[in-house]
Amino acid sequence: MENSNTLKLEDGARIAVIGGGPAGSFFSNFVLMFADRLGLDIHVDIYEPRDFGVVGPPGCNMCAGIVSESLVQNMATEGINFPTTVVQRGIDSYVLYMDVGTVKIDSSRREKRIGATYRGSGPRDVKEVKWDSLDRYLMNLALEKGAQHIRTRITDVKWDADAETTPLENRRLVLKTQNGKTKTYDFVAVTAGVNTAILKAFQELNIGYQAPQTTKAYIREYYLGDQAIGEFIGPSFHAFLPTMPNIEFGAIVPKGEYVTLALLGEDIDTATVDAFMADPTVKECMPPGFAFDKIACWCGPRINITGSAQPYGDRVVFIGDSGVTRLYKDGMGAAYRAAKAAASNVVFHGIARDDLAKQYGAFCRAMETDNKLGKFMFAVVRQIQRFRFSRRAILRMAMEEQKRPPTAHGGMSMVLWDMFTGSAPYREVFIRTLHPVFWTRLAWNMAVCLVTRAETPAATRTALET
Ligand SMILES: Cc1cc2nc3c(=O)[nH]c(=O)nc-3n(C[C@H](O)[C@H](O)[C@H](O)COP(=O)(O)OP(=O)(O)OC[C@H]3O[C@@H](n4cnc5c(N)ncnc54)[C@H](O)[C@@H]3O)c2cc1C
Repeated sequence: MENSNTLKLEDGARIAVIGGGPAGSFFSNFVLMFADRLGLDIHVDIYEPRDFGVVGPPGCNMCAGIVSESLVQNMATEGINFPTTVVQRGIDSYVLYMDVGTVKIDSSRREKRIGATYRGSGPRDVKEVKWDSLDRYLMNLALEKGAQHIRTRITDVKWDADAETTPLENRRLVLKTQNGKTKTYDFVAVTAGVNTAILKAFQELNIGYQAPQTTKAYIREYYLGDQAIGEFIGPSFHAFLPTMPNIEFGAIVPKGEYVTLALLGEDIDTATVDAFMADPTVKECMPPGFAFDKIACWCGPRINITGSAQPYGDRVVFIGDSGVTRLYKDGMGAAYRAAKAAASNVVFHGIARDDLAKQYGAFCRAMETDNKLGKFMFAVVRQIQRFRFSRRAILRMAMEEQKRPPTAHGGMSMVLWDMFTGSAPYREVFIRTLHPVFWTRLAWNMAVCLVTRAETPAATRTALET
């Protein structure tokens, strides 16, 4: 120990990682890599009860499974290219559905690509597993680096000495597993997501941690088969901006022979999902007469709406959803960036609360600031959705852009693509909306749609598609 608020990771240190989702696997990977660079010998245990080889919710971390363009690029810089057994489909375009019409936007014009993956081994009713779980793939990368996987759940955490009277260098964290065993660690990374009870135990440790605020989202899988996927869905991300009060956004994404439906908003319940499925724009996207009650799999996971105010404490850090993540989109990309920042902080700067506050704390504050901008932008989208003429203007502007060569600011098409897929920070997207050409075109389209007669949705749709 160097002074009262600094503590370095030492040779032979034992690190526990609670949760083997993306945040846990990325952190394990980076902490072992950075320690190796420093010639530090550390031991990493990943606690993860799930078997990602099991189909349905028990083997799955409940998410739409879109791997953002920035995550694909970041992984590539580490020399990791996702295998085709993990990335189900490359998505190179999106179709935006609104009550006033539909527009297809080809993102390959700007060389933007994202991938669709399964976090587990696929939907509950799957007959033959033809793909690999993303989470299992990421965890295997960490295991190859030397991490150990312990297949059990952590149920409690305590200090091994009185925190009031014992200096930090003389006390460690003791984790208790579901089978009652305990183990002592020099450092703990909590990467357990938000669909877990363990965060409460860390709040009760009085280290200044408060779990993030969350709301209920919804995911459903449908079997379509290769032919129907090719005919109706294609390699496209289908995005919906319905005018329903508690839905911010809906998406239908192709994966193998299935599609995943994801709904984000506030406390989405079954009635909201049913209303969404009955929406004509949703029916338009799927094969005619499709039986929406033939659900292959579903879940109602929680999703962050705010991050933790202090996602670190003495000898502990909270990464990914358990700490601070990106609002609504690119949670896995955010987990990657946070895991790298945390691992670098732990190895190179220290493991006391004040050590973590500097580098990792600054990283989390920057992400929360970006999320505030994201919230503002979603609020603007909500206002736009209130008026039929402004909805038509957005659609018209995106449609017009498809006829022209791509511009530096990307226009409405790329603003929407980045907001839906999380391929760029909200700040970057916001700055692009301040470009004079963007504003001029938006104002022009607003004016045109204000003075021209609103066509019927079907007529508008046809006009926009031809
Ligand atoms: C509806 C919805 C759609 C989404 N779509 C996308 C998307 O398309 N793309 C994207 O990038 N992000 C998406 N996200 C966000 C993404 O799911 C998360 O940001 C991401 O999974 C966070 O990773 P994580 O490792 O922090 O947590 P998780 O993925 O939740 O992993 C936590 C792990 O910890 C384990 N665990 C929990 N408790 C314990 C315990 N007590 N002991 C041991 N292990 C434990 C769990 O089993 C789990 O494996 C979506 C989220 C929702 C809700």
